Amino acid sequence: MPIDAASLRKILELERQKGYQDTAVFGGLDRFLANWSARAADSISPEFAEPFKKLKLGSPHYPHLSTEERRQWLEDVLAFLDRAEPDIKTASPAYASATAARPKRRVSTTKELSSTSLDSAITAVSGISSSLQAKFQKLGVKTIRDLLYHFPGRHLDYSRLKTISQLAEGREETIVANVWQVKLVNLGRHRSTEAILGDETGNVRAVWFGNPYLVKQLSTNKRVALSGRVKLFQGQFVFESPEWEVLEEKELIHTGRLVPVYSLTQGLRPRQMRKIIKAVVDGWAGQVADYVPPQIIDKRHLLKLPQAIRQAHFPDDETLKNRARIRLAFDELLLLQIGVLARKRQWRQGQPASPLIGSAPVLESFIASLPYQLTGAQQRVLEEILADLRKKEPMSRLLQGEVGSGKTVVATAALLTAAAAGYQGAFMAPTEILAEQHFSALSELLTRAASEVTEDDCTRSFDGILDRPLTLALLTGDVKGKAKTELKKRIQAGKVDIVIGTHALIQKEVGFKKLGMAVIDEQHRFGVTQRSVLRQKGTNPHLLAMTATPIPRTLALTLYGDLDLSVIDELPPGRQVIKTKWLKPWQRESAYKFISRQVSEGRQAFIVCPLIEESDAVQAKAATAEYQLLSSEVFPDLKLGLLHGRMSSKDKDAVMRAFRCGELHILVSTPVVEVGIDVPNATVMLVESADRFGLSQLHQFRGRVGRGSQQSYCMFLSETPSEIASKRLDIIESTQDGFALAEEDLKLRGPGEFFGTRQSGIPDLKMAKISDVNILEMARDEATRLFEEDPDLKKAEHRALAKEVARVWPDATEWS
Ligand code: ADP
Ligand code: MG
Repeated sequence: MPIDAASLRKILELERQKGYQDTAVFGGLDRFLANWSARAADSISPEFAEPFKKLKLGSPHYPHLSTEERRQWLEDVLAFLDRAEPDIKTASPAYASATAARPKRRVSTTKELSSTSLDSAITAVSGISSSLQAKFQKLGVKTIRDLLYHFPGRHLDYSRLKTISQLAEGREETIVANVWQVKLVNLGRHRSTEAILGDETGNVRAVWFGNPYLVKQLSTNKRVALSGRVKLFQGQFVFESPEWEVLEEKELIHTGRLVPVYSLTQGLRPRQMRKIIKAVVDGWAGQVADYVPPQIIDKRHLLKLPQAIRQAHFPDDETLKNRARIRLAFDELLLLQIGVLARKRQWRQGQPASPLIGSAPVLESFIASLPYQLTGAQQRVLEEILADLRKKEPMSRLLQGEVGSGKTVVATAALLTAAAAGYQGAFMAPTEILAEQHFSALSELLTRAASEVTEDDCTRSFDGILDRPLTLALLTGDVKGKAKTELKKRIQAGKVDIVIGTHALIQKEVGFKKLGMAVIDEQHRFGVTQRSVLRQKGTNPHLLAMTATPIPRTLALTLYGDLDLSVIDELPPGRQVIKTKWLKPWQRESAYKFISRQVSEGRQAFIVCPLIEESDAVQAKAATAEYQLLSSEVFPDLKLGLLHGRMSSKDKDAVMRAFRCGELHILVSTPVVEVGIDVPNATVMLVESADRFGLSQLHQFRGRVGRGSQQSYCMFLSETPSEIASKRLDIIESTQDGFALAEEDLKLRGPGEFFGTRQSGIPDLKMAKISDVNILEMARDEATRLFEEDPDLKKAEHRALAKEVARVWPDATEWS
């Protein structure tokens, strides 16, 4: 049997970390070494046999050495391994490639290692069948690498051993004890296992409700570790369904340590998950190449990547657990930052943009025609945009502005400038309803400035604004067949000045004649990839991305480091505080009464139906049922409308129009109303199952009311909110400031979930937290420095990093 230098090294490094206490392996280092060197003796090549013997492996009498002697001996062995390891590998070629990946125990957890890689399907791990594979798939885990990166959400601290006499009621405790007796008992209707365990200080009872199988696994006289909460029952301590583990010569997984708690799915059990992950971490973590250059690792005192992965799952202690998270969060942010910087460079180096110098009088008379005065913030931001447009370098600007701060009119002014300069503009929204609404909002604004308006199927033309008619078009997925072909032809021929649409706009077959400027609304819904597709549509158009999600500056610079930042930090005058209340289920009736009263005073209301799952079809069904119930039972005398994503855009439009002009009293809707819908007379928003939504989303819902002069109200109904959802509801009740809410939301959810990075083409953020300002800055510094030094990551020491960047940014071709 070939020797396994990696496992020896791992144990020794662990021993060093733990301060030479002889705690790295169960049973002590001497025993481990005796075993190890017995195996090594058979396989070691002659030229290394002698030095190995000199190291007195197998008989260092480690427990008898002083700490300093232990340290000395251990460093000697490690230094020897440093020198010998490469040769050990070549001495045994068949084994060479697998050395690092070899599980250190004899338990065969891995099938043929040579044919598997980190990107192999998880069925390559023995014990993972295809039915188990399907379950993992639900967690987004497909490859061995995914398993390594399936980090626990938290750890249970079972690391402090207690004796039985030290146990305290209500605490999470861990003991090591002998099993004196095990038997089957009937507890209630459940066949359960009961055991009596003892150590030198006393006895304690443990029961596992509804688990009769343990009887077979926990035989008398076995030594086990138990971890769990201790209860007092009839004056005696009892462990109720504790985690347990028979103590053999191996590391503890479920007890006696910081025990990982993983997100699971139907049919996956915690013990099973831990066992699988442990085997995979032991077997494969060593194979993960550390792509971060060693100088950075040294300078920043980071853990090496394989060690970080191991410690993130099965940490030796709190300190290492934290260091592991820091390293992994650093990696996420570094890779993110490198990608973002590369995009910025690629884009800036590309074709120059066309400077758009619109006619000042056109813009002035448009602004003069508005029904209100632009706020100071709107004016300032518009100036920033116009200054960008005049440049040859394409604009790349993120416009942040609270819900209702008036971003649309700023975007319209910019698009008008492009049109006046003879270029086309595109305005992309995340949903059809929103695109339609933008179409009518822009139409309304332009109508005020125009002398005459003509209209056909999907376009409107305005006379008297430019020296030619200005044509506005709506292109959504609903425009089909001949109308679509016709519209695309007109866009291609340059006969449409401003096109408003959804994703349909970035489809391949939509071509522009002269796209000079693109606006992306609610940009966090789109993400980097779509942004760059839209960019490639013209001759490097100027780009304005808008968002109502106020992102803390440090994070904005990282996530959107390729964008300049403008902020509308002022709401139009007269906006009110929206009275917000979190309602308990029994307050539903009074909520309905309140709505009736508001309606009788001439106001309107939204009722948002629960988010059941991310499926249009299911949501549409739920909203339809709710709508029927509300119309017939609750508000039989009122006019209700229904809005969901499955309706044709004609129907949606009709409902929206009816609601906007006051023909409907209540709009029952799926969560599609979340973004952008604007009906000033609506004063009540009622959201069902509010615990299902994030803070930013709730704030968006709230932003649908309070747009007129009347006092407005927002009611969040929630049946049984989880702890975290209750926190969210508390916060939203007491905070109106969208910026503060976004910060809270980020804290609660973490940036990955917050930005939905999975869909948006940004690498996943699992470990990075919003509060990681230091790590963020560290990652930004290093990325910037790398970029100045070696922008294409061509140097030898950056090759592994380049490969990793290409892996996490799959659509960025420049590295592959
Ligand atoms: P958002 O920034 O959320 O997209 P909108 O552009 O939809 O906000 O604007 C919200 C509402 O405020 C609209 O009804 C718009 O007409 C109105 N509005 C925009 N700017 C002003 C302003 N300067 N004064 C008064 N009302 C304004
Ligand atoms: Mg908007």
